[in-house]
Amino acid sequence: MVDVLQLDNDTHLLKQYYAGHQMESPNGGFLILLGVRPAADGTAMGIFECSVSSLRYELVIPKATRTERRKVRDAIEAGEDPDCPRHGHGTRLVRAGKDLVCTACGVAYAKA
Ligand SMILES: [Zn+2]
Repeated sequence: MVDVLQLDNDTHLLKQYYAGHQMESPNGGFLILLGVRPAADGTAMGIFECSVSSLRYELVIPKATRTERRKVRDAIEAGEDPDCPRHGHGTRLVRAGKDLVCTACGVAYAKA
């Protein structure tokens, strides 16, 4: 059984995460992404392991905002394949059940 520690819902960390940059671990070293788990409420949970301590961390990835949803809807209505509003150009949203989700952040941005 591995203890999982909660990372603060930190804007700086999230920004690094969306940009694909290395994220600093609270214990020194950096955080290695193990996976992203979408939650029923539209948020997602990023699971990380610290490169130095091997402690596990969770980071709550906030759900899609109204602005992000509108951006995606506009792209769909314009006949485009929508990109993730956070990961930017080249990160396509994929169909998962009834939702269009980003596999990198686990967040649903539109209904498929
Ligand atoms: Zn994304």
